[in-house]
Amino acid sequence: MRGKVLITGASRGIGAATARYLAEQGYGLCLNYHRNRAAAEALAAELGERYGVPCIAVQADVSQEAEVVRLFEEMDARLGPLTHLVNNAGILQPQMKVLEMSAERINKTLGTNVTSYFLCCREAVRRMTAGGSIVNVSSAAARLGSAGEYVDYAASKGAIDVLTRGLSLEVAALGIRVNGVRPGFIYTEMHADGGEPGRVDRIKGNIPLQRGGQPAEVAAAIAWLLSDEASYATGTFIDVAGGR
Ligand code: NAP
Repeated sequence: MRGKVLITGASRGIGAATARYLAEQGYGLCLNYHRNRAAAEALAAELGERYGVPCIAVQADVSQEAEVVRLFEEMDARLGPLTHLVNNAGILQPQMKVLEMSAERINKTLGTNVTSYFLCCREAVRRMTAGGSIVNVSSAAARLGSAGEYVDYAASKGAIDVLTRGLSLEVAALGIRVNGVRPGFIYTEMHADGGEPGRVDRIKGNIPLQRGGQPAEVAAAIAWLLSDEASYATGTFIDVAGGR
């Protein structure tokens, strides 16, 4: 086995595509999900059978500290301690301007998109030794700001970029690497949660490559940064956003 990876939010979208990519490369996998048990269990069973790697699905709301602790303990018990982490779980709430946002909404975005990454990084670093690697899935929104749509989401991803840079410096001397991937406009169901299922197609004419991206194209960047092939890369980012 190439290593043991925890992927948060692996029931669909970029997380599920990353699970497929890493299973094919021979990693053992713990697939975290929040609500979509059927999809996560089916993916774990399929990948375990197809690639012959250990693969489990574990439910946890990663915005909650006690659930993150339980998630890692369950992975310890069923797979053994992780060597790699992909922080990917995230939410997008309906489009609105900053002027309309409530504290409840803002805190929900930050709890799910930021606190969860901090907590999972903490539990991962406690278990990792030299060679350990973390990839945080951020967003091009951190650079673009998402005006008129979801500045709270963009701000949460800005925080992830700072977490990535800061933590990478804290753990570099331990031989643990921390990097980020910033996807742009990727065909997943997340855009429907933001209230506009056709968002990528609406925007694609303004993307330099003139198209939206596929989850597998993001997974390839995540997998490279996660792997020993990126052994001298830490505290850095790959933008996968079609040139935007
Ligand atoms: P998605 O299709 O909406 O999937 C989100 C995943 O996160 C699901 O597996 C969901 O689990 C999980 N999740 C949500 N809240 C959770 C919680 N509290 N605890 C545990 N899991 C939770 O999203 P995606 O488009 O693949 O996005 C994945 C990552 O890429 C996110 O961080 C997102 O911000 C980032 N990103 C996406 C795009 C894009 O264009 N799609 C662009 C830039 C960045 P359940 O289904 O089980 O509830």
